[in-house]
Amino acid sequence: MVMSDTIKVIIAGPRGRMGREAVKMVTSTGHFKLTAVIDHKNDGMMLSDIDGFQTIPNVPVYSDIRKCLETEQADVLIELTTPEAGMDHTLAALEHNVRPVVGTTGFTKEDLAQLERICQEKDLGCIIAPNFAIGAVLMMKFAQMAAKYFDNIEIIELHHDKKLDAPSGTAVKTAQMISSVREPKKQGHPSEKETIQGARGAEYDGMHIHSVRLPGLIAHQEVLFGADGQTVTIRHDSYDRSSFMSGVKVAVETIMQQNKFVYGLENILD
Ligand code: NAP
Repeated sequence: MVMSDTIKVIIAGPRGRMGREAVKMVTSTGHFKLTAVIDHKNDGMMLSDIDGFQTIPNVPVYSDIRKCLETEQADVLIELTTPEAGMDHTLAALEHNVRPVVGTTGFTKEDLAQLERICQEKDLGCIIAPNFAIGAVLMMKFAQMAAKYFDNIEIIELHHDKKLDAPSGTAVKTAQMISSVREPKKQGHPSEKETIQGARGAEYDGMHIHSVRLPGLIAHQEVLFGADGQTVTIRHDSYDRSSFMSGVKVAVETIMQQNKFVYGLENILD
């Protein structure tokens, strides 16, 4: 692969909460260049015509990603929209040999399998990460380490009340990583009974997962470990969507060096 020093980036979903942070990150990173954006409502405009982006010159807006990819030069697509549009955008990028970095959540197992197959066929890199916050990835890794010694575990994830899925992808991923080092084990009193249904939360291999939804929150998770006479609590908090951007930046840089499908930021961090 021949790579120029500057990585040319297209962002899909620039007006969204994540997209706005991605525009800031890309335009403030010296070796990245924002060459175009994909916005389903502002075809033919310039980004600087859109509220909040007046200071960013020379970035055309396209609604049709295929037209964009035929017209503009790009190395990487940062995808931050919705699962349906996101899958179409990711397919289009791979068709045009552009490497996708996907933050959009909600892709199905079949979507992921299809994308992995295309990456193998085309020998092309793609990274999809349900959580781009490096601190969250460390929290999952630390939890996996602690689970070797503490097998009574409760996961509490806390998110804003606009979130559609529960438990969060991060909580499920944490439980999966813990399960790879912990035998399934029923926790709590063997005869415990819920007097209000759901009081003990969801169950994954005997671990319990609790989902909190409140306005004011962004994305937070605690993993609690208990043993005789001691507890350990591992907690990560995203207070702002900028917390995800260091991970997106690392992913853009890394995917230029990798010719494979990667699922999860933890797989590209040392
Ligand atoms: P958001 O604020 O709702 O932004 C989504 C953007 O996508 C909006 O600008 C929306 O435009 C645009 N959009 C919707 N349908 C589209 C289409 N068909 N074509 C092109 N653009 C379209 O959501 P967000 O909070 O930024 O989140 C975006 C995605 O990232 C979600 O899937 C979310 O779960 C995920 N996320 C991932 C991470 C991570 O670390 N991986 C962290 C946070 C969020 P309109 O408003 O005009 O419809």
